[in-house]
Amino acid sequence: MSDDAMDGLCVRECERCPELVESRSQIVNGVGPDDADLVFLGEAPGANEDEQGEPFVGRSGSVLDDALRDVGLARSDVRITNCVRCRPPENRDPTKAELGNCRGYLERELERLDPDLVVTLGKVPSEHLLDRSVAVTKEAGDVVDVRLGERLQRVLICVHPAATLYDRSQRDTFSDTIARAADLSGLADSADGQSSLGDF
Ligand code: URA
Repeated sequence: MSDDAMDGLCVRECERCPELVESRSQIVNGVGPDDADLVFLGEAPGANEDEQGEPFVGRSGSVLDDALRDVGLARSDVRITNCVRCRPPENRDPTKAELGNCRGYLERELERLDPDLVVTLGKVPSEHLLDRSVAVTKEAGDVVDVRLGERLQRVLICVHPAATLYDRSQRDTFSDTIARAADLSGLADSADGQSSLGDF
């Protein structure tokens, strides 16, 4: 993919998906450090994200923020991005074509970040990166190395934060996977350091 539409890690203009150009009010790029060790990957922006221009700022975002806080991390410690950067109409799943159209932007973002770990939040991002069907509730917590362009990327499968809102039994699965993510990316140690500093 040509780099023209991207300015650093951000897509500034793109009209590849006619339906999404109609439904979006803006392109929602990833947020967080451009050298993040840990990346959370969602599906596509919803209404809140489309309005605010930031991934995971609605109820799902609060679940994610809370789980990060529980393992001593702040939202600003990690990068959060989506497979598709424009809101699909009526919050439908992105189509294969839309996922394909946005794929190069995601690969470029991950290539530049070169993170230790990407956590796939839910079925769509898990299947998009693993390129097979994924039973997320069964496979949550599993680590898989996937080829992304020229790179091998370590991926941790996770349920979508929204799953914890409609199925309480997913809460532990979600929080255990976030704890594993902090551990695998080496951020659990720095989080410990920060909390002990706070004791002084
Ligand atoms: N769900 C997603 O998959 N992505 C978001 O940005 C928000 C909710």
